[in-house]
Amino acid sequence: MSAGERLDQFRAELREASAGLATAPTLIVVTKFHPDELVRELFEAGQRDFGENRHPEARNKRSGLDEEDAVWHFVGQLQRNKVRQVARYADVLHAVDRQEIIELLETGEDIPTRDAFLQINLTDDPGRGGIDDAGFEALAERAVESSAVRVLGVMAVAPLDESPERAHERVAGYSERLQRVAPEASAISSGMSSDWRSAVQHGATHLRIGTAITGSRPVSP
Ligand SMILES: *Cc1c(COP(=O)(O)O)cnc(C)c1O
Repeated sequence: MSAGERLDQFRAELREASAGLATAPTLIVVTKFHPDELVRELFEAGQRDFGENRHPEARNKRSGLDEEDAVWHFVGQLQRNKVRQVARYADVLHAVDRQEIIELLETGEDIPTRDAFLQINLTDDPGRGGIDDAGFEALAERAVESSAVRVLGVMAVAPLDESPERAHERVAGYSERLQRVAPEASAISSGMSSDWRSAVQHGATHLRIGTAITGSRPVSP
């Protein structure tokens, strides 16, 4: 099956899974490690939201698809020495997870205000990225007051050692906590190829889908 065919099939499954919801979740196709041709094929098949997790691969993909209505989501961890560059081309930042990132964006030159999600760490491993439970409200308050970002909601990667249902319930809890600080920031970026159905049931508004649509990833880009 081609990526375009898998996209059509996924869309049909998503339509079915989100029947009864006020709005269907936004489908972001994560194209990391795949060539520009695959991005082009998906674009021709009607896909507009694309996700990448590494700089400079993300920037190169974006330049490779010169289309105004494509929307680029940076879903990877934001490193301090790259975040300003990333924010110059990425339309949406999914992994704002510490106050330092906001400061770097505020003090950088020529960086437009970016749509952003606050990433939650659902594990005990700081290396996974995301803010821990104790720091969540302080980060939320800092981000909401900043003109560097427009906070859309929370983002998370469900841990492998927990049921997706439990993980997505916890994400929904963080979303409620964020909405106490910023009532309009009700979006939830969660749900990948293996757990998206559970994410949709627990209120995900943005799905980040890779392999289910792109096929397996080449080992190295
Ligand atoms: C790669 C990636 C995805 C997509 O993962 P699949 O399991 O291939 O659907 C989603 N989110 C992030 C942060 C990723 O890095």
